[in-house]
Amino acid sequence: MTDLRNDVLTALDQVIDPASGRTVVQQDMIQGLVVKDGHVGFVLEVAPERASASEGLRKICEAMALGVKGVKSVTAVLTAHDDHPHHHDHDHKHDHNHGHSHAPKPAVAKQPPQPQAGIPGVAVIIAVASGKGGVGKSTVAVNLALSLSRLGLKTGLLDADIYGPSLPRLMGITEKPESDGKKLKPIEKYGLKTMSIGFLVEEDQAMIWRGPMVQSALSQMLSDVEWAPLDVLVLDMPPGTGDAQLTIAQRVPLKGAVIVSTPQDIALIDVKKGITMFQKTHVPILGVVENMSMFVCSGCGAEHDIFGHGGAKLTAEKLGAPFLGEIPLVPRIRETSDAGTPISISAPDSAEALAFLEVAKKVKASLESASKPAPKIVIE
Ligand code: ADP
Repeated sequence: MTDLRNDVLTALDQVIDPASGRTVVQQDMIQGLVVKDGHVGFVLEVAPERASASEGLRKICEAMALGVKGVKSVTAVLTAHDDHPHHHDHDHKHDHNHGHSHAPKPAVAKQPPQPQAGIPGVAVIIAVASGKGGVGKSTVAVNLALSLSRLGLKTGLLDADIYGPSLPRLMGITEKPESDGKKLKPIEKYGLKTMSIGFLVEEDQAMIWRGPMVQSALSQMLSDVEWAPLDVLVLDMPPGTGDAQLTIAQRVPLKGAVIVSTPQDIALIDVKKGITMFQKTHVPILGVVENMSMFVCSGCGAEHDIFGHGGAKLTAEKLGAPFLGEIPLVPRIRETSDAGTPISISAPDSAEALAFLEVAKKVKASLESASKPAPKIVIE
């Protein structure tokens, strides 16, 4: 297997990047190379301004790897790297390649993205979003997914936070996804099916994906992953309300969105932006979660309202969005997250885990009662 890996690298080392005249291997453009049972996956990383012109190079790399004896399938994903991860200004409309190669399975979508059809075998997709980073969106997404699973729903979790994938760390996942040559297998842990771009590239790589590229990567993670059968797929959105988020809200067939906020004023302004974004794109707001709501003192057990608890509830009410509950600020939530053993798994009977469970119950109820078109939640 190691030999096959070397053979693939040797083959890729013959692909010259026209921009530099050096090979893609010499230039460190091949990232996250996975070789497993003849199935090969890697990321081709290019400078953002070259994203539009690099689809051809991606295809050549794919073809070269496919030509190696013993290789059964190749999945190559194109990414653009930037030192300024949050500066995603304009989309290059011509990012879509003009090539007409007949590769059996192009990894990057060619068409300008349309609203996607649902995923066969996946009853509903819901988004967990936040107006800004650092409010605990990923923590909520993970524990919400685990709680939905606890309520008997077959649940998947897709980390669409491409700027900073956190799922590998939060769930303690280090394996790479396997491919059967057609689809990637989601990694199953704690009863969830999970997928993250972080399974393919290193977590500390700050990445920027242009709108169209976010969409192709997401399309792949939605359609080229063996999700089915699922009752609900939870999508951990990138933080914020910029172009990339809007693209996802418009094009992924979302049944609803959960907005995460802290009680602080500044976060609440962002929550309004989040709600507005989903309203504009006609995605129903399932509700708002107030995270880091009150600090439960481990010494005296008393609750302290560090950030002025209750703000998210008021904001939700004002904006006509349901309020889903409060998650306390507890060091254990961070500690268990850092250890890759989320609180809902490591301390399922703790007040914090039960708070997540309450949120999940409300989400489940609202999915069940949503009338048109009725989501089919299958309870076992
Ligand atoms: P986001 O996805 O919004 O950027 P994260 O989920 O990564 O935020 O959370 C940011 C940090 O806050 C992480 O270190 C996480 O462990 C911690 N955290 C999130 N929610 C809580 C909470 N309720 N109590 C304590 N720490 C929390």
